[in-house]
Amino acid sequence: MGLDIKKIREDFPILKEKVHGKDLVYFDNAATTHKPKQVIDILSEYYSKYNSNVHRGVHYLSNKCTDANEETRIKVQNFIGAKESCEIIFTRGTTESINLVAFSFGEKFIKEGDEIIVSEMEHHSNLVPWQMLCQRKNAKLVKLPFSDNGELEIDLLPSLINNNTKLIAVNHISNALGTVNPIKEIIDIAHQNNVKVLVDAAQSIQHKKINVQELDADFLVFSAHKLYGPTGIGVLYGKKEILDQMPPWQGGGEMISTVSFEKSIYNELPFKFEAGTPNFIDIVGLGSAIDYVENIGLEVIDAYENELLQYATEKLSTINGLRIYGTAKNKASVISFLVEGIHFYDMGMLLDQMGIAVRTGTHCSETTMQHFDITGTVRASFSFYNTKEEIDALYNGISRICKMMGV
Ligand code: PMP
Repeated sequence: MGLDIKKIREDFPILKEKVHGKDLVYFDNAATTHKPKQVIDILSEYYSKYNSNVHRGVHYLSNKCTDANEETRIKVQNFIGAKESCEIIFTRGTTESINLVAFSFGEKFIKEGDEIIVSEMEHHSNLVPWQMLCQRKNAKLVKLPFSDNGELEIDLLPSLINNNTKLIAVNHISNALGTVNPIKEIIDIAHQNNVKVLVDAAQSIQHKKINVQELDADFLVFSAHKLYGPTGIGVLYGKKEILDQMPPWQGGGEMISTVSFEKSIYNELPFKFEAGTPNFIDIVGLGSAIDYVENIGLEVIDAYENELLQYATEKLSTINGLRIYGTAKNKASVISFLVEGIHFYDMGMLLDQMGIAVRTGTHCSETTMQHFDITGTVRASFSFYNTKEEIDALYNGISRICKMMGV
């Protein structure tokens, strides 16, 4: 079944907005996606009718929010194919999830001389926390490089692993290049060597059907705001047997079962990792976002976004002097590019004047930029609510800018 794009666009109020008097063309979906009215409405409904702190109340409103939160936990469990709902930890987002693992897994399992492998195309969120851990523990960070077309040099991976290797942290889809990485293969190689794997699914959860049990991922992390949900809420999935061994990373309410001045006994999963009042209204919004994408179907979404990617790649490739960074065989709907002689900021600002929103700069992945010896790119990233007509507008916009700039 195809997508009724016109009807889908009706669900996203922001897509009707004008920018600088022009129709908004939003191609910054890798940074954050827009929210359908179903998500916006449920946030308003919960603030208007049910707002009350979770887990600590005996009254109706508190129970209503608590139930809605725990239902969302089960929704997330089913959405990613986790074995148990206690393996789903709510966090502020991908970054916090990774920091949680880097701190807590690091406390328990990383010692001096250990090694952690991180790819060369990671978002800073999946690099800096590991650097910090390595500094803290006197451990070593090892780079898994990528080739010039933006594919990980997976053949090198076995030679990078040794008896000291404890963890591989890798993104499923690169936000800077769009590469879809072979995470199943990476996990298989890692597990043959008794190494754990954290999958950064920030850029894949909204495009690909994920099953953590089939993948056998040890940890998987994502943010709701890139999945058509609210900001400030995200997920850490971890295998129960590993999470059980990890110490809490923040102290406070809810993460304890009993407290005295002498000592505290920690709560069980998932609450052990959820200190303080959770973002309980946005958790409900995340549940609504999952309903929304599941209703359309991730396979349908993926197929349509691939169509947009093919169309845009072919069109933009005809522009003189335009180079696409990231030409892997397996790509998601992200095009990073530069036009010779035009700075990425100029390109981004001039496109903005035409109502076209793209992202410019390093995309929080300076190591990716360093690989190509550049300081940034222009990035257009597509969602299922985008259209080929909008890609035509991008093409025409870039062509006009090239003419204006005399290149
Ligand atoms: N990893 C990847 C691959 C990303 O694209 C992003 C967001 N750009 C992050 C991590 C960080 O996500 P957040 O800022 O939502 O924590």
